[in-house]
Amino acid sequence: MGMYPRVIITKKEIVERKHPWLFSQAVKPLDEIHEGDRVVVLDQSRQPIAMGHYHNGTIRVKVFHWGKPIEINEEFWFEKLKKSFRKRLLLGIPSHTNAFRIVHGEADLFPGLTMDYYNGVVSIGVYSEGMWSELSLIVSAIKRLLKEDVKAIYARKHTGKTVISQLLDGNAENPIICEEHSIKFLVDWKHGQKTGHFLDQRDNRLLVRKYAKGKVLDLFSYSGGFSLNALAGKAKSITLVDSSERALELAKENIRLNFPDANVELIKADVFDFLNETNERWDTIICDPPAFTKHVRTLPQAVRAYTKLNKNVLLKLSKDGYLFTFSCSQVVVPELFRKILFWASQQAQKNTLIVKYMHQSMDHPESVFHPEGLYLKGIFAVID
Ligand code: SAH
Repeated sequence: MGMYPRVIITKKEIVERKHPWLFSQAVKPLDEIHEGDRVVVLDQSRQPIAMGHYHNGTIRVKVFHWGKPIEINEEFWFEKLKKSFRKRLLLGIPSHTNAFRIVHGEADLFPGLTMDYYNGVVSIGVYSEGMWSELSLIVSAIKRLLKEDVKAIYARKHTGKTVISQLLDGNAENPIICEEHSIKFLVDWKHGQKTGHFLDQRDNRLLVRKYAKGKVLDLFSYSGGFSLNALAGKAKSITLVDSSERALELAKENIRLNFPDANVELIKADVFDFLNETNERWDTIICDPPAFTKHVRTLPQAVRAYTKLNKNVLLKLSKDGYLFTFSCSQVVVPELFRKILFWASQQAQKNTLIVKYMHQSMDHPESVFHPEGLYLKGIFAVID
């Protein structure tokens, strides 16, 4: 077995917490280690307890294996991948869609890696140097697991200032047509946002399909995932707002594919400006902004922005209106998101009744040892 450099744990509690992130004050290197290296983690009595990738940031080690050290090779990643895939199969997810998340980072003990499947295309998001250097092994593992069900493997690396994209294997048409709960949608897996589509909203889109009514406004629409479901339900008309031209092009094509006769308005605008300028009212508003902050540092500004946004949205709802509002910022914890809606309702002088809390879909699970994994929060509310 290869010799891996070692780090030692400086605090006893760390071992029991089983948190996949070991922070800089909790570990000390014993050997020479470089960014992204695989390391063996020793407890205070120098017994090996885990393996992970070493990084120079505040999160020093991201654990990908608990237990005695083992050889990290294609077989290792294959077994892990098979386990992640099997969980999605057991939940029946691929039976109602051909687009789903196979690997959800820390929850599947692939820290810093997300892997989505889009009807034959595997699109990977990489958030750590360590995972980036495992990619060739992971690509072989994917091919061995999915065989002829995989036509292309693509990765985006998000660790530096600019995103690096790379076709790792095969090829397929882009955008590719996928299907979710009988709705077709295009995924631009080469140039789209994140891995190409937001699969984390799948379960919430069904809720929108069931309840959205009348005149519907889809803010931060991207390729129209919510709009398509509103149209499959009781929506009479739909207005989509997004600042990205490409997002609206995809949305337009998606609506043409499914509901060519629908009453649709596509608006390229900044949502904040749009809300300031319009005098219209809507029966249903969906508001799914990008993360306003990724760090606790900038949380106060983000909270103000979320509050203002939700206040302005509340003011645009008609009587008995429905609100579906979301935050995907990891640092905005569920209680805080509820408070944001409280402040927004105070300022807008609206009586907001929460009828349902929402989270990310089931193929994006949260490990009990990694509470940060619960990042997507939503509230379905009814307004007086
Ligand atoms: N609701 C979408 C996902 C939204 S992702 C879905 O279900 O698929 C966030 C979207 O907000 C992106 O498409 C991005 O282009 C857009 N966006 C970001 N900032 C914006 C702004 N200030 N105004 C309008 N759109 C914005």
